[in-house]
Amino acid sequence: MANVRLSDYDLDTLPDVCMKCGATATVRKSKMFSWHPPWVFVLLLIGLLPFIIVALIMTKRKTVEVPFCEAHKNHWLWRTLVIVLSFVGIAVVGIVVYSAMMEPAGRRGGAGDELIGLLCMASVLGLIVWIILVAVLQMTAIRASEITDRGIRLSGVAPEFVSAVEQDHFGGRFDLDRGVREHWRAGRERPRSEEQRYQEDEPDPRRKEDGFQEGNQ
Ligand SMILES: [Zn+2]
Repeated sequence: MANVRLSDYDLDTLPDVCMKCGATATVRKSKMFSWHPPWVFVLLLIGLLPFIIVALIMTKRKTVEVPFCEAHKNHWLWRTLVIVLSFVGIAVVGIVVYSAMMEPAGRRGGAGDELIGLLCMASVLGLIVWIILVAVLQMTAIRASEITDRGIRLSGVAPEFVSAVEQDHFGGRFDLDRGVREHWRAGRERPRSEEQRYQEDEPDPRRKEDGFQEGNQ
């Protein structure tokens, strides 16, 4: 997996290449990325509250219309579902254990105590596994590794997507299927009015002439 730096201009002209696998993209998913400088984590040494306050102030957000293929269109959805549902499962076991422990000791037998002990261990272990699971799911997802006022750096993207963006920078055409090429060609070769030509920064012979005349005056 690779990293890609995208300016605000790039974000408006992202290629139709799946950001996860490099295949032809069929959908765009609106995703709000958030990021804060890594030094904010140092504040955890002082305490949780200073960290949370500074992290909230320093966090930058940027929405990206991410291109995906059919296979990856739920790239973040299934991760969120796994994280939320597994947490709910652990929480339910935890609540059951807690309420069983609150029962008067006389009402439960030795076997019940053993079961509560096992469930208690299971929920603590489950919580540790859950934290590792969240870390793994986040590290394998497309994520922001820097957000500035002018752009965003994304990690965990397909190298093919990076080359497509770079090729776009150099004005090249992507080596994708014909449909995509035609789509781009149609965009490039739109008939443009004289007015539009003046508005763009392309060299225009008449403009050069004007400049020459002005220089002579
Ligand atoms: Zn894909």
